[in-house]
Amino acid sequence: MNFTLTQDQQQIQQLAREFAEKDLLPGVLERDESSEFPLEAFKKLGKTGIYGLPYPTEVGGLGGSYLSYILAVEEISKVDASFGIAFSVDTSLYGGSIMNSSAPEAIKKKFLAPITYGEKIGSFGLTEHTAGSDAAGQRTVATKDGDSYIINGSKCFNTNGPLADYTVIYCLTDPALGTKGMAAFVVEKGTPGFTVGKVENKMGIRSAHVSDMHLDNVRVPAENMIAQPGEGFKLAMKTLDGGRIGVAAQGLGIAKGAFEIARKYMMERQQFGKPICKQQYLAFKMAELQTKIQAAELLLYKAAICKEEGQPYTVPAAMAKMTCTNVAMEVTTEAVQLLGGNGYMKDYHVERMMRDAKITQIYEGTNEIQKLVISGQIFR
Ligand SMILES: Cc1cc2nc3c(=O)[nH]c(=O)nc-3n(C[C@H](O)[C@H](O)[C@H](O)COP(=O)(O)OP(=O)(O)OC[C@H]3O[C@@H](n4cnc5c(N)ncnc54)[C@H](O)[C@@H]3O)c2cc1C
Repeated sequence: MNFTLTQDQQQIQQLAREFAEKDLLPGVLERDESSEFPLEAFKKLGKTGIYGLPYPTEVGGLGGSYLSYILAVEEISKVDASFGIAFSVDTSLYGGSIMNSSAPEAIKKKFLAPITYGEKIGSFGLTEHTAGSDAAGQRTVATKDGDSYIINGSKCFNTNGPLADYTVIYCLTDPALGTKGMAAFVVEKGTPGFTVGKVENKMGIRSAHVSDMHLDNVRVPAENMIAQPGEGFKLAMKTLDGGRIGVAAQGLGIAKGAFEIARKYMMERQQFGKPICKQQYLAFKMAELQTKIQAAELLLYKAAICKEEGQPYTVPAAMAKMTCTNVAMEVTTEAVQLLGGNGYMKDYHVERMMRDAKITQIYEGTNEIQKLVISGQIFR
C-alpha cells in the first residue's frame, strides 16, 4: 500500500490550491451574498483541461487519474464549496454519464471534449418532484418519432442547470416498464421547448446555480440517446457512484478549510491570559477533529483509487460520501463554536462553511441512502 501522492497528483493539487486562493477567495463572501456564479473564473480554470481530467484523451479528456480530480475538488472546496460542486457535477455527473454510457466514441467525444476545457458546461437531470431518493419515480417521457425522440416532463434541483450548454436528461421511453424502460439523452441548451426555471434561493452553496428544467415537446435527435431504453437506470446509478466520490471530496475540502481557520484563530485569540489553544479541552477537541478528518481522507482516497483501478467502488463511494460529509458538518459546526461570537459573523467564513456543509449530507443520495447501499452489501 502506498500513501504518497504521485508527482502529477501533487501538481494538480498545487494548481487547484493556487487557483482557489488567488481567483476564488477574494470574492467568496460577496458571492455568498449575491448568489452570483463566478463564470469567468470557471472558464479560466477550464483552460487547464481540468474538467476532463479523469477521462481518456481519445474522447477529449486529459487522461489523468480519478484521485487527481478528487484532490482538485477538495482543494477548491476548502475555499469555495459552490465552485467545488459546479466542478464536480460538470465532471463526474455530466461527464460521467457520457463516459459510462454505451454511446459511440464519436458521440462521447462530441459531448465530452467541449467540457474538458470549460468551453461548455454540463448538468445532470435525474431528480424530479416525484423522484428523489427513489429515482425510479420518474415521470418524464421520451416518445420515438421518426429519427428523433420527443421529450416531455420536468426535472428539479439541477446543479449548473441555468448555466448548462448540455444536460443529460434521464427519462422513460415506456412508462409501463418503469426503470426497465429508462433511457438518457443529451439535450442542448436552446432546443425549442427546453426551458430553465428560476435560480433557487438556497441555504448554502449559494453561488452554485440550481434550477428546475422543463421539457415541453422537446425534439432530440436519436443520436443524442446515450443510454438505450433499459440502460438508463444502470447508467444513472453507476454515474452517481462516481459523483458521490466528488461530493465526498467537496465535504472533506470544507472540513479541512474550516479546521485550518479554527486552528489559526485558536493560536491568536487570547482569553484568560493565554491563547485559547492552550485550553486542553479545546486542543483535545481539535485532536479529535483532525483524526476524523484523516480517517475520512483515507476512505475518500481509497474510493477514488478503487474506481481508477477498476475495482468495485459502489460501497467505498457510499462510505466515503457519508463519512466525509458528516465530518464536514461536525467540523464546521465546531469551528463556529471555537471562534465564539466571531464564528457567527460572515467575515470569518466558518458560518458559510457550516451552511455549505449541510447540502453535502443531502445530495447525490442522502446519507440515509448511503446506509441503504452499505447495509445492502452487508446483508446480501
Ligand atoms: C442544492 C441541490 C442540488 C442538487 N443537484 C442535483 C442535480 O444536479 N441533479 C439531480 O438530478 N438532482 C440534484 N439534487 C437532488 C438531490 O440529489 C435530492 O434532493 C436527494 O437525492 C434527496 O431527494 P429528495 O430531496 O426528494 O428527498 P426525499 O427522497 O423526499 O427524502 C426525504 C427524507 O427521507 C429520507 N428517506 C427517503 N427514503 C428513505 C429510505 N428508504 N430510508 C431511509 N430514509 C429515507 C431521506 O434521506 C430524507 O432525509 C440536488 C438537490 C439539492 C438540494
